[in-house]
Order: sequence, then C-alpha cells, then structure tokens
Amino acid sequence: MKFTRSATATLGLLLVAGLTACGSSAKTADTASSGGSGAGSLVGVTMPTKSSERWIHDGNNLKSSLEKLGYKVDLQYAENDIPTQVNQIENQITQGAKLLVIASIDGTAITTQLQEAADKKIPVIAYDRLIRNSPNVDYYASFDNFKVGVAQATSLLIGLGLKKADGTDGTAKGPFSVEIFAGSPDDNNATFFYNGAMETLKPYISSGKLVVKSGQTDFKTVAILRWDAATAQKRMEDLLTKTYRGGAKVQGVLSPYDGLSIGILSALKSNGYGTAGQPYPVVTGQDAELASVKSIISDEQYSTIFKDTRELAKVTVTMADAVLKGGKPKVNNTTDYDNGKKVVPSYLLQPTIVDKTNYTKTLVETNYYTAAQLG
Ligand code: BGC
Repeated sequence: MKFTRSATATLGLLLVAGLTACGSSAKTADTASSGGSGAGSLVGVTMPTKSSERWIHDGNNLKSSLEKLGYKVDLQYAENDIPTQVNQIENQITQGAKLLVIASIDGTAITTQLQEAADKKIPVIAYDRLIRNSPNVDYYASFDNFKVGVAQATSLLIGLGLKKADGTDGTAKGPFSVEIFAGSPDDNNATFFYNGAMETLKPYISSGKLVVKSGQTDFKTVAILRWDAATAQKRMEDLLTKTYRGGAKVQGVLSPYDGLSIGILSALKSNGYGTAGQPYPVVTGQDAELASVKSIISDEQYSTIFKDTRELAKVTVTMADAVLKGGKPKVNNTTDYDNGKKVVPSYLLQPTIVDKTNYTKTLVETNYYTAAQLG
C-alpha cells in the first residue's frame, strides 16, 4: 500500500481546528457546467442510508438550508442499495432537477446517470464521498479525509499512552497488541481514512511498539463492505477466537466509523472485555453519533471524529446556490481528489478528535447535542 502524504499530525491543531472552515487559501474553480437557474428550481439530493444518524442530519440540514434559499428539494435515501440510488437519481433527472447533490453508495456505479445529467447540463456536487470514474462531477464538498485517518490513528496512540494530546511522545513503551479495521472498499473515503491512519501508525508498527497480532493490515483484508456493523462484529469475533485465545488481550482497535465500533465493542463484550479486570481496548470511531458519544462518556468507546454536518451542509448549499446562479463557487483544494477522470475542485473542512476530555466543548457548547441528549 502506498501512502500519499506525509503525516503532519499536528495534534493540537486536529483537536481544536474542527469547527473552522479552512478558507484562507480559497480559490475559485474554473469550470461549472451550468448556467443560471435561480430560486424555485428543483435540487435533487440523494443520501446513502438512514441506518446511520449522520446521513439523516446531512439530508435534513441540506434540505432546510436549500429551502430557505427558495429551492425545491427532493431528498432521497437508498438504504445502501445501489440500484435504488441509481433509480432515485434517474427520477430526479426526469423530474427536471437543475442540480444534483449526491452522497454515493458505490462511487463508481452511477457513471451512466451522471452522463445523462451532463447531457442535460445538470451540474453535480459530490457530497462527502467522491464520485469516481466520471468526468461529470463538477464539485466536491467534504472533510479532509486523509486527515480524518491521521486523527483516528493519533487518538489510538493517545489512548494507548504512546502520544500525548499535545503531539509529544507519551510515557508508555508498549508493545501493544492492536487490530485494524477499514471502511467500505467502494467508498473513496475509506481508502483515504486508511492511508492517513496507516501512515501515522507505520513507524510504531515498524519499531515494534504496536503489534498487529493477527497480521491483517492489508486494506482489502480489513475493509468492511458497506460499513456494516454486523460484519465488523463478526470479524472482531473471529479475531478474538483465532488470534487472542489463550489469554492474550487486544489493547487497541482502529475503527473508522462509530457504527463499526459498536459492533466491535459488542464482540469484545461477549468475550469478557469491559470489566474491571479486563477493560475494553482503546477503540476509535468517526461521526460523533449519539450512541457512541454516550459510549465514550461511559468509558467503552475511547474516541470518535467529529465532522460537523451543519458546516458541510452550509458549504454545499453555498456551492449549489453559486452554481445555480451561474457563478463559480469557492473551493480550497484543487489537487487531492482525482476521481480517475479529473481532479474535482473541492472544498474540504477540518475534522476534530473527540474523547471524554473534550466532548462538552466540541459537541455540547456548539449545540450539536444538548447535555440532556447525552444523559
Ligand atoms: C463518511 C463517514 C461515515 C462513513 C459511513 C463515509 O463516507 O465520510 O463519515 O462514517 O461513510 O457512513
């Protein structure tokens, strides 16, 4: 596996920078495939699934913000079924949508629909997940996905005591037994998360401070199709049975998404972890989903990555509005997201590590959750 960027894991920054959209180097993209279609136009929004809270927040935020600007919105969820999403996009094109915002399930499966959209001069914004292998993607709004992976690995190191939150070396020496999970191989983000994480963990694995006891580190081996919690639970069960029998304990699990972390923690619990004598390993996550934040508060999951879906919706709606009015939206990255056909002009937001020490500041004080919701 080739790692594309150097690990500039500026931990302090990762911990504090999350709520600030990075805008200083903002540039204007040179292409937009549509001319002016203003207020009142239909915008098609397709999201992957309602089975994960984050996409519900994303969809609702996009819909209400677009409606506030006077657009009509068709918001669809596909329950992670690719043909359903394909049909939804086709329907939106037929209904006369003037712009499509798509969070794809399989980033390579909608090329034909995007060609149809391009033929009708309907611009497309890839939302959170890059759409691959199509020249007909105008813009991409997301988080810095490589940095999300760096943040996940960093919090694993902090949880194990190999690093301190300020980025300096921790006092722990290891070796620690860890296991690695990755997201869905058809989601472009999963590779970025994995690359960011592995680049950060690699020196610790090479020096023997971290030991992946199962030996399973290859992306294809550790990836969990469709981000499915039950598949992750099953893989963790298998690891515990095969690799950790006879008293060996797993001390850290790199998990790229809260839903997977819940599955992983269930497997650990049914194998005797989560007691005073046998605490849970350091388990990471992503999305700051309510159940996982509660799990962090009760010392089960160690950390998550907060990506403020309100900010992502805001950026996307600003982009959509500019494109629909025939303008050029602001982007801040024109190098990192090559979809196989073109480098898609992108606006990237910054992720934040959340653990028990800062959830109040990052999630409650910003009104993402109320204190009452977190119990
Ligand atoms: C998103 C993550 C999410 C995952 C599973 C990724 O594409 O960027 O925020 O955890 O999908 O839904």
